[in-house]
Amino acid sequence: MRVVTLSIGDELLDGRGVDTHGAWFSLELVRHGCDHVEHRVVADEVDTIRDAMSALLSRGDLLVMTGGLGPTPDDLTRDALASILEVELEEDSEARGPLESRLSKSGRPLGPGNLRQIMRPKGTSFLANENGTAPGIIARVSGASVVLLPGPPREMCAMFDRHVVPLLEGDPRERATIRSFGLSESEAGERLGDLARRDSEPVVCFKVSDSVVQADVLGAGAAGVARRIEELWSPYAFGDELDTLPGVVGALLHERSFDVAVSESCTGGLLGGALTGVSGSSDFFRGGFLTYSNALKSSLLGVPDALFETVGAVSREVALLMALETARRLGTTYALSTTGIAGPSGGTEDKPVGTVWIGLCDTSGPQPVVVARRFCFSGDREQVRDRTVKASLQMLRHRMLDIEVPLLWEIGS
Ligand code: ATP
Ligand code: MG
Repeated sequence: MRVVTLSIGDELLDGRGVDTHGAWFSLELVRHGCDHVEHRVVADEVDTIRDAMSALLSRGDLLVMTGGLGPTPDDLTRDALASILEVELEEDSEARGPLESRLSKSGRPLGPGNLRQIMRPKGTSFLANENGTAPGIIARVSGASVVLLPGPPREMCAMFDRHVVPLLEGDPRERATIRSFGLSESEAGERLGDLARRDSEPVVCFKVSDSVVQADVLGAGAAGVARRIEELWSPYAFGDELDTLPGVVGALLHERSFDVAVSESCTGGLLGGALTGVSGSSDFFRGGFLTYSNALKSSLLGVPDALFETVGAVSREVALLMALETARRLGTTYALSTTGIAGPSGGTEDKPVGTVWIGLCDTSGPQPVVVARRFCFSGDREQVRDRTVKASLQMLRHRMLDIEVPLLWEIGS
């Protein structure tokens, strides 16, 4: 089946937003064995949308469009569909009741903008949207099916699964994903040897996103090849497409009835934020200390002032003490600490921007064991802080699995 797709939104063309839906469509359509023949991005203008629809419809059996179904005057996709069908918009009498009750749950009346959302071109049908107020629309245009989906990702993805997937006629290709952290992309590729050859079947594609190196395997036998990649990337591989490092660490802690606390300086709460992003985190995450200033490192964690003058706040000694005192004061199985220079200012010759010490205290044995490891992360402030969070979590994962290996960006300490 030949499928064409269209993303609509001024923000996708003026730099305010990125068209991630295009890539998402590609992945889903390939996974379902369809030919994704063409994708376009256009502005919120009726004529432009209509022209793009006409061009795309000449090339595909199914056109999937996203964006511009909201309540604001710049949401014009339904008008473009009406224009191509040469019909008027009309209110769908059955859609008013459910929208009114949905809005009333959050104490909102039905406004003129919402009324636009229950208008659809004559002869078309609405598609239910369980996550938002704008229904989708399905129509037949010159022998092809056209599906309009709202732009917000949560709404679009769920509606694609529910309403578009049943329309897809293809030969689904098996697909599997393995994710890793702490290995460079080049080493990840080298470790796979011939498995990563472009002409192999199944084919292996690499992706690096937010420092997570991922292999997507597509084609017959994908699951078996993914398992082999997991072995070759061990112990850096942490899971599949649905796994995140905080989620995997949380599951390990939960399985063993262990818990963790944190003390954070350069990550300013991001590590606790990542752990509490996991549903059910109260099982394994206790809380911690947000000790950004030296004064709080002293008053909350007992780090002696003298250490700041001798070795500095970004040092093995401070990371060790922070982790040890956090575990001791909060009584957790593990404690993680972070102290570093996220930049862009504050670096010195000895401690350049990106220098971070991560401490880990483990009280699961007879005596507490505390270690601190030094990293020199590349990237801007946001990347340094994100990489610190991920390295901390991978350190904890390895500790629980009794594995000791260096991580990417770690420097001899
Ligand atoms: P609403 O206006 O009610 O939010 P809508 O159906 O009109 O919904 P848009 O206004 O086009 O959709 O987009 C809403 C938001 O969804 C955008 O601000 C953007 O964050 C996200 N979004 C829309 N299209 C895309 C896209 N192609 N890729 C990634 N994100 C998108
Ligand atoms: Mg909108």
